[in-house]
Amino acid sequence: MRRPLVVGNWKMNGTCQSAVQLADAIVSGLPSECQVEVGVCPSYVFIPGVSERLAGSMVQLGGQNVADQDSGAFTGEVSAPMLKEFGCSLAIVGHSERRQVYGETDALIAARYQKAIEHGITPILCIGETLEEREAGDTFKVVDGQLQAVLGQAGIQSLGHAVIAYEPVWAIGTGRTATPEQAQEVHAHIRQQLVAQDPEVASNVRILYGGSVNADNASSLFSQEDIDGGLIGGASLKADSFLAIVQAAMENS
Ligand code: PEP
Repeated sequence: MRRPLVVGNWKMNGTCQSAVQLADAIVSGLPSECQVEVGVCPSYVFIPGVSERLAGSMVQLGGQNVADQDSGAFTGEVSAPMLKEFGCSLAIVGHSERRQVYGETDALIAARYQKAIEHGITPILCIGETLEEREAGDTFKVVDGQLQAVLGQAGIQSLGHAVIAYEPVWAIGTGRTATPEQAQEVHAHIRQQLVAQDPEVASNVRILYGGSVNADNASSLFSQEDIDGGLIGGASLKADSFLAIVQAAMENS
């Protein structure tokens, strides 16, 4: 039985004040009995403030990335031990904005993923194809390649400490969501590929969907067999829509 997980990726938005207000609103809006795991990934600089507000709540805290090193001369990076110091238990790794805008390679993403696990942080490994790749019929080839680049380094058992997020690039921040059937097809494919490597890991690993999930489409996506929650960008910036998405995950759990 996979417990759904809904994570908000706040990206580079807001102020320290709006971030703590959003954290407060999420904590107070969650039902007392929540069968779904919930997390938020604020900008690094808001993590200390948000961390204080989440203390004692069920809401998990995460970084939007994590360094491939523990410490040293790595300007601009934030390490897993630093994230842990502020109570982070999650870190997004390999987001398409990191891959595409900042040129992060599969090898770097694999190293970041391994560092997170080494320090007890759960990496949320993002994989997904561009529109061009989908139209060329290469979706499976792309997601398989991105996943194997990491598992080739970290091993299949690492997925016992990680989460996968399928995020078609063409659906991120565009308002264009994959249909539930399109998403399920890729999620099922990913799980099937993993079955060949380790059936138990394959059946236990959570595969989140990300890409313009909102309060209206969340339920139909989460009702799919291999969709175990979501990584939410734009709709996580308002407590009402994020809480409605969590509710949809609860109803489909
Ligand atoms: C994301 O950035 O991971 C994401 C899914 O964004 P959005 O929900 O805005 O498409």
